[in-house]
Amino acid sequence: MLHIRRALRQSWAGLRWHHCAAAEVKNEPILEFKHGSPERAALQKALQDLKGKTEEIPCVVGGEEVWTKDVRYQLSPFNHSHKVAKYCYADKDLLNKAINAALSARKEWDLKPVEDRAQIFFKAADLLSGPRRAEILAKTMIGQGKTVIQAEIDAAAELIDFFRFNAKYAVQLQHEQPISIPISTNSMVYRGLEGFIAAVSPFNFTAIGGNLAGAPALMGNVVLWKPSDTAMLSNYTVYKTLLEAGLPPNIIQFVPADGPVFGDTVTGSEHLSGINFTGSVPTFKRLWKQVSENLDRYRTFPRLAGECGGKNFHFVHKSADVESAVNGVLRSAFEYSGQKCSACSRLYAPDSLWPQIKARLLEEHGKIKVGNPADDFSTFTSAVIDEKSFRRIQGWIKHAQESPSLTILAGGKCDNSVGYFVEPTIIETKDPKEKIMSEEIFGPVLTVYVYPENKYKEVLQLIDSTSPFGLTGAVFAQDKNVVQEATAVLRNAAGNFYINDKCTGAVVAQQPFGGSRASGTNDKPGGPHYILRWTSPQVIKETHVPLNEWKYPYMQ
Ligand code: NAD
Repeated sequence: MLHIRRALRQSWAGLRWHHCAAAEVKNEPILEFKHGSPERAALQKALQDLKGKTEEIPCVVGGEEVWTKDVRYQLSPFNHSHKVAKYCYADKDLLNKAINAALSARKEWDLKPVEDRAQIFFKAADLLSGPRRAEILAKTMIGQGKTVIQAEIDAAAELIDFFRFNAKYAVQLQHEQPISIPISTNSMVYRGLEGFIAAVSPFNFTAIGGNLAGAPALMGNVVLWKPSDTAMLSNYTVYKTLLEAGLPPNIIQFVPADGPVFGDTVTGSEHLSGINFTGSVPTFKRLWKQVSENLDRYRTFPRLAGECGGKNFHFVHKSADVESAVNGVLRSAFEYSGQKCSACSRLYAPDSLWPQIKARLLEEHGKIKVGNPADDFSTFTSAVIDEKSFRRIQGWIKHAQESPSLTILAGGKCDNSVGYFVEPTIIETKDPKEKIMSEEIFGPVLTVYVYPENKYKEVLQLIDSTSPFGLTGAVFAQDKNVVQEATAVLRNAAGNFYINDKCTGAVVAQQPFGGSRASGTNDKPGGPHYILRWTSPQVIKETHVPLNEWKYPYMQ
């Protein structure tokens, strides 16, 4: 009895300490990298260190580094002669080994107090905020083609925020308890899911990889993390940082793999308990179908979380502030070459303001510098991620050149001789239902539809019904009634909706992110709800009085 009390006292002391740490969590400040600043010097040194280097990245299974014969390379998008990473694909056998290794670690990890697990993520966040910051930024810039600010808001700020806020939410969740009455005590135990989680991450955010694998692990799950082929360099550093912070071996298996081989293997395992996916709609649909085909095989119903694409809009009303609308669209359509799931790709402008908006857009478009973001910090955006993306986007530009309802107003040049460069492109459409207004392009291509200003109500309906997605959108209007009207009509058109602000740039804990319709399951990473997906709560009732009778009073 005494040792139980002592253990309880210790765990409460621990809880108070962590509570304190959890209560203090704030968004990571975004550094400015001005001339002469220490962060600029550190980043330049880290970039220099990567020049011409190829990092070797093994699979990590069962706590061991493993190489298979299927060797691949990650190329720098803006200089494809630079192989930034050499890695290998895990095959089916190795993936099955990874599943077994993960399962062998599950029980002990799940029984660990959440405060101890949270501590690892607080520590990892501190490492990324301090000693590992320049390295993770440089690797995200060189490997994924990001500029300084785009790398900073992703690989530093967002990733650090994910780790800290998730840890805070996980600790706080322990206090969400059912009511108890004098004769019995009820408690909710937040268990991990029974089995393993498959985390499948995209190329475009280093932070997303860390979160897809990290959030389930924090909640007591074991994870197989399949990073994207084109984000290997940064994602491996995130993984190593988690290990450095104290994540035990086997909790996350790092398994680069061919997408379908990974998908087929994990959905074929009876132990699959969840998929945490971010990427395109076809890939998520394929995984979902495979899960349904294998339903009879599973020990538990797998949880499926998927954040997919978008066809995000800016609606400009005649009462809008033109400068905000123009600057908002330039940033949201062209930053990171339109390769954010939230990027604006359709603009609805009223005919009365269009001459002004068009003139300003074209003027500013001429000032955009596209280039090598590591050598020249004044670069606004760089190359698209790989040859496949380059060809796809080039196909859309060709379509714009050939379609009678489309006119290219600016940009349109593509050049893959050194890197996969696509010029930011502005297109005008006469047909608001042209496929360029409904399908995701995932590149620096913005299409504008100019509408008669008095038809704005119809245009709001049009925005809502044109594309299958429902991710982000923005309304620019000073007229409060129009804002209200747009908010109501577009209620289901965007999971993240902006008023007089661009539709990109969601911040963890401020704008938890995600959309529904074809954009995904809208589980809102970056918010307190997200971690609930990765726990399978158990309720324990303990009764303190003896049960002396089986008959009910009315029976006597
Ligand atoms: P993708 O679907 O091509 O790839 C995503 C991941 O899935 C990669 O790791 C890939 O290797 C893997 N994969 C491919 N086929 C697979 C299969 N059969 N089984 C299992 N895994 C498989 O997407 P991408 O090009 O890396 O990312 C771009 C897409 O991601 C865009 O559609 C974008 O909108 C979306 N995205 C959405 C969000 C969001 O929060 N909604 C965030 C970032 C990106």
